[in-house]
Amino acid sequence: NKQVLFKDYVNGYPKESDMVVTSDFTIPLELSNNEDGLVLLKNLYLSCDPYMRGRMNKTSKGSYTSSFTPGLPISGYGVAKVLASTHLELSKGDLISGITNWEEYSLIKNPESLIKINDTDVPLSYYTGILGMAGLTAFAGFYEICLPKKGDTVFVSAASGAVGQLVGQFAKLSGCYVVGSAGSKEKVDLLKNNFGFDMAFNYKEEQDLNIALKRYFPDGIDIYFENVGGKMLDAVLCNMRVHGRIAVCGMISQYNLNQPEGINNLMLLILKRIRMEGFLVTDYHHLYPKFFEMILPLIREGKIKYVEDIVEGLENAPAALVGLFSGKNVGKQVVVVAHE
Ligand code: NDP
Repeated sequence: NKQVLFKDYVNGYPKESDMVVTSDFTIPLELSNNEDGLVLLKNLYLSCDPYMRGRMNKTSKGSYTSSFTPGLPISGYGVAKVLASTHLELSKGDLISGITNWEEYSLIKNPESLIKINDTDVPLSYYTGILGMAGLTAFAGFYEICLPKKGDTVFVSAASGAVGQLVGQFAKLSGCYVVGSAGSKEKVDLLKNNFGFDMAFNYKEEQDLNIALKRYFPDGIDIYFENVGGKMLDAVLCNMRVHGRIAVCGMISQYNLNQPEGINNLMLLILKRIRMEGFLVTDYHHLYPKFFEMILPLIREGKIKYVEDIVEGLENAPAALVGLFSGKNVGKQVVVVAHE
């Protein structure tokens, strides 16, 4: 059973060598005892997510999930097939999404997080992204926190990623003007030509982010969907309109810093009466049915696009995860362990 083990706690940027690929561990491919609540999984797709960096810290300072344990497999969202089960709600042959381990086969006890996949006419890998955590994050963050109205001006950072590409498309569906920032020409082209953003720019090529935002939002920003933090947030604050809304989804530019950058322009929250609200997708799981009702028809009718960056092979998972922090991924980062 090939596995990706977490080696040791990380300081600064994560490296591939912070994880180790082994095949030392064997797992019986059937359930031999009668213990209830066990599920034997064949892992198919794994999700690489920025929050996993927080789990590489020794203390989960400020993080909302527990740290990884050195010597044990990395765990995260994935899609898998049930090979055997003594759990009442899951049977052999079922496809599931939820928290699994970075290994070919997993034996999971009391799998509360595993959800049976019923809609299999869409790509299964989508359950790591648009139909998983990233999708619900975009949905809850945009509709519940940003409260969009037709004609609002919307800015999205890390806009070509797993969450950002959906926020931009939701904004268009709501009749908003939407601009995205991303870290390469390829990503900027994708935003404009594939996801329908009105405008997009490469933040790495801008000398002054404040000036860049003024170029795209001469009358200011009503809604900012925050994925990066740091200098971008400071520049956005200068460009928000009175009564603007900021959904603080993530601050990836800060995750690998020992000392987070300061924000200079927070006073503008008062002067402009801005509502800035952080949120965690885990508080919105009850919205999954409503979200699926909206998103599945849009996917089936081709009215929403979803770009994935698919890497083949469990042994390539460490590089894929690390790549999120240098913007190597174009779209949702997925690792294929097996194709069913
Ligand atoms: P992405 O697919 O967008 O991948 C991460 C991207 O972040 C990279 O591709 C890169 O894009 C960008 N990035 C990396 N480092 C920096 C940096 N220093 N400065 C600016 N941009 C950087 O990830 P997700 O869509 O999965 O996640 C987006 C955000 O949402 C993250 O902050 C994540 O933590 C957060 N999140 C929050 C959740 C919640 O419940 N609140 C749930 C899920 C995600 P580029 O090339 O454009 O720089």
